Amino acid sequence: MEPQTAADGPPLTYLDHAASTPVRDEVVEAMAPFAAQVFGHPSGHHRQARAARQALEDARDQVAGLLGAAPGEVVFTAGGTEADNLAVFGVLGAASRRLPAGGETVVISSSVEHAAVLEACRVAAARLPGVEHERVGVDSHGVLDLDRLAEALEGDVALVTVMLANNEVGTVQPLAEVVSLARERAPRAVVHTDAVQAAAWLDVALAAPGVDLVAISAHKLGGPKGAGALVVREGTELEPLVVGGGQERERRAGTHDVAGAVGLATALGAVSRERDEEGLRVAALRDRLADGLLHAVPSVTEAADRKSVLPGHCHLCFAAVDREELVVLLDEAGVCVSAGAACASGAVEPSHVLASMGVPATVARGSIRFTLGRTTTPADIERALAVVPEAVARLRG
Ligand code: PLP
Repeated sequence: MEPQTAADGPPLTYLDHAASTPVRDEVVEAMAPFAAQVFGHPSGHHRQARAARQALEDARDQVAGLLGAAPGEVVFTAGGTEADNLAVFGVLGAASRRLPAGGETVVISSSVEHAAVLEACRVAAARLPGVEHERVGVDSHGVLDLDRLAEALEGDVALVTVMLANNEVGTVQPLAEVVSLARERAPRAVVHTDAVQAAAWLDVALAAPGVDLVAISAHKLGGPKGAGALVVREGTELEPLVVGGGQERERRAGTHDVAGAVGLATALGAVSRERDEEGLRVAALRDRLADGLLHAVPSVTEAADRKSVLPGHCHLCFAAVDREELVVLLDEAGVCVSAGAACASGAVEPSHVLASMGVPATVARGSIRFTLGRTTTPADIERALAVVPEAVARLRG
């Protein structure tokens, strides 16, 4: 089947950048040689291999520089989910093996983590002897409860994992406070942050200072799917998830996806250059969209405090509307949005994020995530403002 394009239907208004972003032209260009001319195995010993290795190490240097890390601290992975899994299983596997017989250790996560972290914590606690998983809740805007975190940090804590920004509602977490609480109360704990959503909008090194592990994903930045990285601060004990040829300094085996690493580095470089300007531009468009919809549609609530969310996020709950029906209706009109976290089957799960924020299920039923990005224009927003009120009225009618 040919991919559907704007030419197949109404003009396309893509407001789902938190799900995935259009790949940037410079990324396609930078990756192209590795699909054809430069095909060597980067671990080899001839000119083809050297060319591939040089590109891989240049990409590593670039990613490290942009994230405030040393090149040796960057582990390339096949995306954000793998980076999060490597962080969780890697730290907890090592911690569990160190425990004395009958000993216990804890992984603390926020209650609003992406499934890549929450499921990894749940499965790690189920599989690894002595590992318990504790979730710390959030307030009504999705901000982590630091008092509860402080309480949870008593005892033996192996890992604290708190995302830098939430994928559903966009709330940015106070990572500097999380790190200083963890250092003060559980100095042996490793601190991980899932910066998959945040990296497009925030300077991770400034927004999450002093964390031990940082996960990013290229396709949220205008890069390719299936490419990501975990920054592993020197000295952090981490067991590999994937073993084999010992690549990535024994932290992630497997022949490198050179094109993916180059794509990730190019995308991260581009967003970092444009971040300040784009953040302001996109936040203004987001405000126009949110204010416009709050004004034009009765009985709409905004999930989180706009002051503490990423510039591209606009999460609204439309009373007396089924979100899945609204997504379909908007899609028919060419407006692509999301009803929350979709699993692989495409089914929309009840949102654990909204539940944690205390949003009643009846309100969450009408929740829609509009996420703006680099390609969003004022015309997109005007189109959404024209289409959404009508679609909501139709469903309510
Ligand atoms: N973490 C967050 C916060 C995300 O939003 C996502 C993707 O939606 C992931 C992790 C998973 O990243 P990937 O799609 O690269 O596996």
